[in-house]
Amino acid sequence: MKSRTGVVALLSACAVGALTFGLPLSTAAAPAPAMDQKALEAKLDAAIDPAELGRWLKDLASQPNHVGSAHDKANAEWMAAQFKSWGWDAKLETYDVLYPTPISESLELVGGAGAPFKATLTEKPIPGDEPTFTKDALPAYVAFQGDGDVTAPLVYANYGMPEDYLALEKMGVSVKGKIVIARYGGGWRGLKPLLAQMHGAVGAIIYSDPKDDGYATDEVYPKGPARPPQGFQRGSVADMPIYPGDVLTPGVGATKDAKRLDRKDAKTILKIPCLPIGYGDAQVLLSALEGPIAPANFRGSLPITYHVGGGDAAKVHLAVKSDWSMKTLYDVIANLKGSEAPNDWIVRGNHHDGWVMGASDPLSGMVAELGEAKALGQLVKSGWKPKRTIVYASWDGEEPSLLGSTEWAETHAEELKAKGVVYINSDGNGRGFFRAEGSHAFQHFVNEVSADVKDPETGVSVRDRARARLAVGMAEGGGRGGGENNSPQMKAAAQDPAKDIPIGALGSGSDYSTFLQHLGLPSIDFGYGGEGESGGVYHSLYDDYQHHSRFVDPGFVYDATLARTVGRAVIRLADADLPVQRYGDFADTVSTYLDEVKKLADTKRDEAKTQARLLSGNAFNLAADPTKTHVNPEPLAQSPTFDFKPLEAAVAKLKTSAGAFDAALASKGAGLSKAQKVKLDNVVRQLDQTMLRPEGLPGRPWYMNMVYAPGRFTGYGAKTLPGVREALEERRFDDARKYIGITAEALNAYAAELDKATAVVNGN
Ligand SMILES: [Zn+2]
Repeated sequence: MKSRTGVVALLSACAVGALTFGLPLSTAAAPAPAMDQKALEAKLDAAIDPAELGRWLKDLASQPNHVGSAHDKANAEWMAAQFKSWGWDAKLETYDVLYPTPISESLELVGGAGAPFKATLTEKPIPGDEPTFTKDALPAYVAFQGDGDVTAPLVYANYGMPEDYLALEKMGVSVKGKIVIARYGGGWRGLKPLLAQMHGAVGAIIYSDPKDDGYATDEVYPKGPARPPQGFQRGSVADMPIYPGDVLTPGVGATKDAKRLDRKDAKTILKIPCLPIGYGDAQVLLSALEGPIAPANFRGSLPITYHVGGGDAAKVHLAVKSDWSMKTLYDVIANLKGSEAPNDWIVRGNHHDGWVMGASDPLSGMVAELGEAKALGQLVKSGWKPKRTIVYASWDGEEPSLLGSTEWAETHAEELKAKGVVYINSDGNGRGFFRAEGSHAFQHFVNEVSADVKDPETGVSVRDRARARLAVGMAEGGGRGGGENNSPQMKAAAQDPAKDIPIGALGSGSDYSTFLQHLGLPSIDFGYGGEGESGGVYHSLYDDYQHHSRFVDPGFVYDATLARTVGRAVIRLADADLPVQRYGDFADTVSTYLDEVKKLADTKRDEAKTQARLLSGNAFNLAADPTKTHVNPEPLAQSPTFDFKPLEAAVAKLKTSAGAFDAALASKGAGLSKAQKVKLDNVVRQLDQTMLRPEGLPGRPWYMNMVYAPGRFTGYGAKTLPGVREALEERRFDDARKYIGITAEALNAYAAELDKATAVVNGN
């Protein structure tokens, strides 16, 4: 589901061109794997065939495969049969979920210049690109919007993010009783109609501006990869930052006899109608707007003067009616049973449902997973016996709300908490650079794996290439996205090839969410990208086989590289004799998060003080253009002082405990008896569950992880130490105080479990 466009991920420093310089590259940090493991991995590499991945992709993406479609089910059945033919124990698991589809919808400009005008709401087929002639594609639609029929004046709210509403307020423009039009980008889709609703709007329209993924970025499809005028981005607007999965069964599996909420009580369904449109239609609506000229950061690339509206000039009629019936999900679940520790599960998944044909998102990642599965099956046939059980999943219903993964994980929660070692995810994939985000105890492991995978374009390791990109990005101006990409650890990794490259934290936007944030199972998300261009067709009719093979991953070599990367990770995790985790990396990372949060508390305090001074000196009024409407900002609540000592003590203890464990394992690990190894495995396997607190995050108890969460108002973007960080950001100061204590408790519990693990290694 996740669009990589505009997403700050690991190594998303400025893209660089071909590498023509001699940066000192080395894989010094990675100890050479044992010979038999190297041989095994060479066999894995040889068994993965890019052309075969391409053939699978062509079939899977030949027709629309959204939830409830015939082809989605057929794909699940075909994959289950493939797994079986490769020697896996495979089956379909089904769940019944509420999944709306459109019955009727309409969007018209009924007042203002250009009226009357009727929006198209369907995408034109492309001659020569046969699947785009399908009759089964969903029209313009966002799932879990609220049905309605409204006519109201239009207001343009830029990206529709919180700061955009502050800007509108300053101009004296309210969206109350209006229909908001916002462009894609700047934050997660679902927040746009939600924030419009919270500000009193009666309807919302989301459009793709050519500046963000259309003709301003590249030639449009089919000439180039970018979004054509009628291309629009479907998606989900369920309020997933409250809880993902079936809207009627939060916290439990959507099995046949599950207790279900009434639809009217499902908090995550939007109340107002909402539709997505392309820039071809949006231009007509935006041209009709009058009122203040849009501020510079509101302006896109349409050949118009952007106004924000606010008066009654442009009037729009928006109507949506959905079929709110239950649909069946088809998850494919396949196992290779472990020979020594069958109750240790290495779980790996990618989703198979798309919005239309879904070639790049998600099938490019799905065929990588299938490539791994076939290769692992061959290794087993040739005599390999994985020590731990390997569970491969192909999820249905990820696009509407992470449905298939969440319902499976909630159904099997107890078993997963007892047996799960790690969850490995991928999703849409493309040509370019290696990236990974995940639980930081796996940072060194991720570095070791990526040091042993060859980049298909340059022949160096994918880690060396990622490091070069990071180094060049920093030399040329410090990367982009601030924060994480400019941390001291990133700088060190850019300069020193012996250092591990830091991995980013996981927010949401793909299937790892439930495992990591609800069950406390450590998770890693792998992918390649940054060169292939899939952003312009994201969630549109044009994300198909032809587009993927021409513009995103010609020759399917990066889809195959993803398979070689994840396949390697799975083999190593399934066979590891000792924990691969390095808890010092986790402790160091949490320590930087604490520094950030403390700094944030200071920033928030200064912000309120500065604002109070400006207000009392009438500065906002004096600095504004008197001929234009200006409204002073609402006074901010002054910050109290916070006692961070409990959290500081917890982080200090965590560092000590982590250091002691890593040192003990490094010096004594090899000499542990079989019984000690089993005992150690049992402690380590459930360690990350200590990050969960039963009360969950404020206002969203489903999210129980006190270190990693998606932001309430970022949607996909990660918030670390979220209970404290978000409370400070939103000036909920009582929550901030409370969650300093709760987060400290979680970290203390984590350190205590680590001490138990250390005692096992020390033979106590
Ligand atoms: Zn996806």
